[in-house]
Amino acid sequence: MNTHTGQSTSVWMTSAPQPAFPKLSHDEGADVCIVGAGIAGLTTAYLLTKAGKTVIVLDDGPIFSGETERTTAHLVTVLDKRYFELEQLHGEGGAKLAAESHAAAIDTIERIVCEERIDCDFERVDGYLFNAPDQPPDLLDRELAAARRAGLTNTELVDRAPPISFDTGRALRFQRQAQFSPLKYVAALAQSIVRGGGRIFTDTHATKFTGGKPAKVATRAGSIVSCEAIVIATNTPVNDWLIIQAKQAAYRSYVIGIAVPTGTVPKALYWDTGDPYHYIRLLETKTSGTTSAQDILLV
Ligand SMILES: Cc1cc2nc3c(=O)[nH]c(=O)nc-3n(C[C@H](O)[C@H](O)[C@H](O)COP(=O)(O)OP(=O)(O)OC[C@H]3O[C@@H](n4cnc5c(N)ncnc54)[C@H](O)[C@@H]3O)c2cc1C
Repeated sequence: MNTHTGQSTSVWMTSAPQPAFPKLSHDEGADVCIVGAGIAGLTTAYLLTKAGKTVIVLDDGPIFSGETERTTAHLVTVLDKRYFELEQLHGEGGAKLAAESHAAAIDTIERIVCEERIDCDFERVDGYLFNAPDQPPDLLDRELAAARRAGLTNTELVDRAPPISFDTGRALRFQRQAQFSPLKYVAALAQSIVRGGGRIFTDTHATKFTGGKPAKVATRAGSIVSCEAIVIATNTPVNDWLIIQAKQAAYRSYVIGIAVPTGTVPKALYWDTGDPYHYIRLLETKTSGTTSAQDILLV
């Protein structure tokens, strides 16, 4: 049976069986101890295992029960901040780095999906950014120029996004974005980690992190993992309560899934430039391999 933390439910929660792992009840050792079994921790563990390292992954819940099972799973080079804003904050080089790193992340997921033959509905799709009514009319022009300077040279301005229920007006079309089914993907990563000799422990809360040779992770139940390196992949870090937390603000995204007749919304990613912004994607539902009469629109 799948188990989840938190009160909210997402459309993914029944999409993949949630592999079960034991609680850590003794001392252990590995090259790397990764704390957090969301997409960040499991990807790190997967890549390290492929590189020949021994890994131990600890999570205080079941695996992928944090943000990863609540994401809308748009895989994008279109970020929450506009590229012209990133240029102001970090210069042209910084904006380029942001574009390159997100493109590399999507490419990496695509490569892993192919190499591991993961059936997770990964698909390259176009993304459309259009103006919210209260935004300056030249915003898209400025963003087009900045996106191209950041290396997204195939970005173009089109008269409107594909027909959703209203006319978006002019939109920026970003090519080679992607979408996938996140829990099918991370469940397969977990299996591959275990096949590669990695060990995963759940219901295991990490409480204390000590550097040195060896570095040590202590758990609430009193076990110690000794390792060469520790990776904190807990989303917001739990090893230091000042450096990042002092710069963080809490925001909440609300997502609803709406059944729509198949074919009524063209498959793409869509965002507006509002604050807060709105974004949507489509999730095709299939019953026993046959296409269903309804898709789910994630808003
Ligand atoms: C509604 C919503 C929509 C989103 N949409 C998108 C989107 O479209 N595209 C996109 O790119 N991103 C999106 N995101 C963001 C994305 O989902 C997250 O960035 C990503 O899932 C974070 O993964 P993670 O592995 O870093 O963290 P999590 O998935 O949160 O994993 C962290 C894990 O660490 C564990 N943990 C925490 N503390 C400890 C401890 N002390 N000891 C042991 N374990 C611990 C937790 O139990 C958890 O399993 C969205 C997020 C939300 C909430």
